[in-house]
Amino acid sequence: MLTVNLSVGALIYTVSAIVLIFGLWIYYDVRDRKLIDAKRRRVVFHCIRCDKLYSAPEGTEVCRCPRCRFENSRLRF
Ligand SMILES: [Zn+2]
Repeated sequence: MLTVNLSVGALIYTVSAIVLIFGLWIYYDVRDRKLIDAKRRRVVFHCIRCDKLYSAPEGTEVCRCPRCRFENSRLRF
């Protein structure tokens, strides 16, 4: 009787561990996807003074170059 209880306990333990791992996996997957989406929605700037490419969050029209501090307007494709 004790062995049966033990294996049921082990089964419950294993199942809950798997559920926990899958839960965390899905949670981080969704979170990462949102982060990547937020990163993707950025505008690209090209510095006409030092030729550096850099990006800023969407909606920014003018951004200062991180290398030489020159103010560039956004790149249009
Ligand atoms: Zn620059």
